[in-house]
Amino acid sequence: MTHHQPKIETSPKVSDEVRKTTCYMCACRCGINVHMKDRKVAYIEGNRDHPVNRGVLCAKGSAGIMQHNAPSRLRAPMKRVGPRGSGEFEEISWDEALEIATGWLAPLRAEAPEKLAFFTGRDQSQSFTSYWAQNFGTPNYAAHGGFCSVNMAAAGIYTMGGAFWEFGQP
Ligand code: SF4
Repeated sequence: MTHHQPKIETSPKVSDEVRKTTCYMCACRCGINVHMKDRKVAYIEGNRDHPVNRGVLCAKGSAGIMQHNAPSRLRAPMKRVGPRGSGEFEEISWDEALEIATGWLAPLRAEAPEKLAFFTGRDQSQSFTSYWAQNFGTPNYAAHGGFCSVNMAAAGIYTMGGAFWEFGQP
């Protein structure tokens, strides 16, 4: 008598494309393989060939999938519609957002651009935001790094000759 066992798929296909890049959930930049299914991020795994992490991925790195899939992700400019602090916002178009920003900034730039104090968070594009501030004409710009890991890295380099954080290993 032959037993016909139902075929169990032990390795279901999780993706139709794998893109190799680096994690930016922290500054260590571990190598990752991002599995894409139907052009969406489906799964993230560590890249075994990457010298920094050699395939290891921490929980935060795995959670990087939520950078793309979280329902709370910002997808359009938001305009505050209630009193400050009320948390009431509505989505507006990029055209409207740029019109509002230009309306605020153009007169300031014409009058005294240094009156603009421009601060960004850890936006991962600080070379662009500082370039923008310089071209606007204000020296008064800063970002998250000045309060956080960049100080630590600079202090490490000046005192111990190296920094484990920011340019180093997880
Ligand atoms: S240590 Fe974790 S969060 Fe940081 S880069 Fe590596 S996987 Fe990403």
